[in-house]
Amino acid sequence: MQTTVFFPLPEYLLPWFYANQRNLPWRQSKNAYAVWVSEIMLQQTRVEAAKAHYIRFMQALPTVFDLAACEDETLMKLWEGLGYYSRARNLKKCAQQVVEEYGGVFPSDKKLLQKLPGIGEYTAGAVSSIAYEQKNPAIDGNVLRICARIEGNFAPIDSVERKRALYQKLQSVYPDAAGDYTQSLMELGALICLPETPKCNICPMQGRCVAERDGLQSTLPVIPKKAEKKKVTLSVFVLKTPKGILLCKRPDKGVLAGMWQFPNVEVDPKNPLSLKMQLGGLGIKNYTVLKEQGHTHVFTHLIWDMTAYLVETSDMPPAFLSFSLQELEQNVSLATAFKWCLRLL
Ligand code: SF4
Repeated sequence: MQTTVFFPLPEYLLPWFYANQRNLPWRQSKNAYAVWVSEIMLQQTRVEAAKAHYIRFMQALPTVFDLAACEDETLMKLWEGLGYYSRARNLKKCAQQVVEEYGGVFPSDKKLLQKLPGIGEYTAGAVSSIAYEQKNPAIDGNVLRICARIEGNFAPIDSVERKRALYQKLQSVYPDAAGDYTQSLMELGALICLPETPKCNICPMQGRCVAERDGLQSTLPVIPKKAEKKKVTLSVFVLKTPKGILLCKRPDKGVLAGMWQFPNVEVDPKNPLSLKMQLGGLGIKNYTVLKEQGHTHVFTHLIWDMTAYLVETSDMPPAFLSFSLQELEQNVSLATAFKWCLRLL
């Protein structure tokens, strides 16, 4: 089997896609705004979880003009549960730029799309092909996996050269139905050519795939070992005061930038400060600790090992704002990593 294996790809994938594609809310429209929102969400979460978020988001902000003009707090609330809040902020910045520079119409040119905030090569490929039928591949981990298996390619999946070569190879076979082809590759990765258990017996590429022919499904793609995640130990304080529960905002940069959080202190697990010292550092001198509970939150590159303390106090340091429990649950965009602490209340 030669690398020309790519030439018949659209011929086999498109008919399979038309017969088997899932009915997903973002497939109801090829509007660039809708495609873009769905693609950014799908980078954050699985399809099933993205569905409800997408519907809610599009009902609240149906056009790029609505997103460009929305309140930050509304946006954060709509984004809640998706993580990576910097992406939500970039979403709004991008919408504002599309409104100001392009009169609210996303450009169809991939290079222009890539100049917009938060739009990388993958998203630009997806938006330009799905919304504008431009013959631009959108290569993500799924597409890399499928193609490594079909071709029998042993290059590491994160290699820049491999990605570049694959882009050219895929682009050379892109059919006129570019958007459907982009989605057919995504669909094959989501439904058939699964990472652990590829369903070769019902795959449209059966009989045309090196991995299937040579039994290399569990060998390919070649995935380099990931660096170990950094572990951070945090004490989190749920401070219950007569005026309500105290929160503060996270810094504008870094993990969960700009989100609301319970006051917390990073602790050296080998040499932890006493609770009195930790609370004193936050400006809490008079207090009673009522309960404590532990929890681990895993980010892509980071693990937070947290212990939360429910603390009753009458101190109100000016760095914090107070909220009722109802406000916390309904109106405040509390970072998901801290939501479990509500169980203490
Ligand atoms: S035949 Fe198997 S390994 Fe090859 S693309 Fe299909 S599911 Fe993946």
